[in-house]
Amino acid sequence: MEAFCKQCKQWSKRSGLDTDRCEHCSTLLEAERLSYQKEKEQIKLQSEAESLLLIREGDSERKRKLKKAAVWARVIFLLLVLAVMLVVFGSHG
Ligand SMILES: [Zn+2]
Repeated sequence: MEAFCKQCKQWSKRSGLDTDRCEHCSTLLEAERLSYQKEKEQIKLQSEAESLLLIREGDSERKRKLKKAAVWARVIFLLLVLAVMLVVFGSHG
């Protein structure tokens, strides 16, 4: 098994363990790969959640209404939270 080392831009042999290090600069190979994958997953999840509410060309009338309702529900929820916070924190001052 080989892994690309971002640190020194060279390929290094690895045995598949978490403690594998680059044979050139001894950077942890697995840790690098894991954090990169985690980051990629997070970006994917984030964009999926955002695109879920985007109205697309092919959406049916019902779907458009549902998405608009979801966006408004979120806005109303945020306003409610803000109102509660104003009441809670406002009463002290
Ligand atoms: Zn290296």
